[in-house]
Amino acid sequence: KTENNQPLIRFEQVDFSYPEQDEMVLRQLSFSIAQGQKVAILGKTGSGKSTIFQLLVRNYDVTSGQIWLNHCKLSEFSENTLRENLVVLSQRVHIFSNTLRENLLMGNPQADDQQLIAILEQVGLVYLLEQEGLKLWLGEGGRPLSGGEQRRLGLARLLLSKADIVLLDEPTEGLDRETEQQILQIILTHCQHKTLLMITHRLNGLTHFDQVYKIDNGRLV
Ligand code: ATP
Ligand code: MG
Repeated sequence: KTENNQPLIRFEQVDFSYPEQDEMVLRQLSFSIAQGQKVAILGKTGSGKSTIFQLLVRNYDVTSGQIWLNHCKLSEFSENTLRENLVVLSQRVHIFSNTLRENLLMGNPQADDQQLIAILEQVGLVYLLEQEGLKLWLGEGGRPLSGGEQRRLGLARLLLSKADIVLLDEPTEGLDRETEQQILQIILTHCQHKTLLMITHRLNGLTHFDQVYKIDNGRLV
């Protein structure tokens, strides 16, 4: 499945502590991921998994060490270039006080209504269109979404994105087993030629991955 062995993402002895915190969350973390690889990241609650994604999307910079993306220092990427290359579905999906259409366009501003509707069908949210179509208002003062619905909306954004690196933080958390299988299949199909990093607590479905990393207390074990 791996298209070549050049590392696309490389963590080099990364140490990280959150601002104003003494405790190191990641310690001497080193690993490489090649273009096209599918990597699962396991580890207990609080072990530092989501923090790895926080660093990759540059919400924070490393305390020491280096992260490389395509042989360039991640710290030298502009926010725009980074967003073109990398898409993330985080544990908490942010819903904007805006229409369903605008919420979906966050994933890809160029998508047309037909594409948006097709994606809603794919993620099982097409029923949201029943009353007001894509004009349905979400967020504050709008239609409330359950946790599972928010997650599917996040997934819809992700499927619309053209980015080649896909980061998923527990995409199937809180979904029933049948839906989980469905969603995992959609993700794997979408990511067939992409690089995928997926944080998961679940051990089923791991056969689809090239590598499984376990994080324990900020270290790769
Ligand atoms: P989970 O499986 O519960 O999502 P995780 O492995 O994703 O856990 P992280 O979110 O990476 O864990 O958190 C690792 C550690 O960093 C935890 O001890 C957490 O309290 C701390 N932490 C996370 N976010 C912040 C933050 N914004 N500021 C300070 N500390 C944080
Ligand atoms: Mg987490």
